[in-house]
Amino acid sequence: MAPVGMSGGRTYSGVVLVVAGSPELDRHQVNEGNPERPSRVQAALDGIDLAGLSDAVVPLEARRATEIELVRVHQPAYLGWLREFCAGGGGALDHDTFVSSGSWDTALLAAGGVLAAIDALARGTGDVAFVAARPPGHHALADTAMGFCLLNNVAVGAADLADRGERVLVLDWDVHHGNGTQAAFWDDPRVLYASTHQWPLFPGTGRAEEIGGPHARGLNLNVPLPPGTTGDVLLLALDEVIAPAVDVFRPTWVLVSAGFDAHRADPLADLALTSADFANLARRVREFAPATGRLVFVLEGGYDLEALRFSVAASLAAVLGVAFRVEAATSGGPGAYAVQRARDAQDKQRAGDLDDLEGLWG
Ligand SMILES: [Zn+2]
Repeated sequence: MAPVGMSGGRTYSGVVLVVAGSPELDRHQVNEGNPERPSRVQAALDGIDLAGLSDAVVPLEARRATEIELVRVHQPAYLGWLREFCAGGGGALDHDTFVSSGSWDTALLAAGGVLAAIDALARGTGDVAFVAARPPGHHALADTAMGFCLLNNVAVGAADLADRGERVLVLDWDVHHGNGTQAAFWDDPRVLYASTHQWPLFPGTGRAEEIGGPHARGLNLNVPLPPGTTGDVLLLALDEVIAPAVDVFRPTWVLVSAGFDAHRADPLADLALTSADFANLARRVREFAPATGRLVFVLEGGYDLEALRFSVAASLAAVLGVAFRVEAATSGGPGAYAVQRARDAQDKQRAGDLDDLEGLWG
């Protein structure tokens, strides 16, 4: 008997699970000490068991994304270069980003995992999907790997949906700004990109004034937050900045760049969230989906294994309306002023005052 949760009259009763980075398929080897390591995926999967959701899981086979699907986001020359670089044994692409001979295949499965999840939901297989894949994707640009990311998994999924005529919200709560996803849909009115992230922090993009290109003005929302920001402020950002834009945009699908590195235990950043805060975020995000079967969580960052396990458990339990709590929600940290600043940027954009910033931030 699967857990059942109610949301606005809608019933969530099944998880579709895509295992794109299972030990058997994960051949993306990185350098010793790299925080983006294979055990992350197992930690995420353990979270599902920890929350008692195993009976609600429908396991799905990942598939490899095709070139046709990837070139919606990436340049063909980059894809060819990366494939050959991996085939030659790989190496360091930058300070953070390493590839091995198997990395290309694993990256294809991560991007294809999102596509498989979308296809399964579209067929009515489940109510919500979680793609437990690595490497993460939201930093990957059209022609550049960076920040552990090779292919932009969530962007490949959003582009596939947009080409089918869907309106897609990409909600990115990873602690880092998803510069690759922002760039992919900067001037694309079919996709609303909304990000909450620590500022300043890698990759250095994600100012509130980055509002989208001339054809998508106001469809790029950034809420940069100071170190120490607590869960109540993240909810404020969703309610005060993102929800109003979602109400106007009316997405037909919601993809979540679900990084869990905003957890206070994460070694790469300094926000102060707990797994209970991620549960609250997941519950809010669920409301952004127009119906069941239109919500996909895609794993991005999250580098403390216990925090990752707890946070995946809490988030998916919250979507299904299942009680799970090992940590308390947080409040009282800084950041409310940053939410207000993001609102101000929105107001100025509506008034036309931000038009001349295009050249600065584009
Ligand atoms: Zn991150």
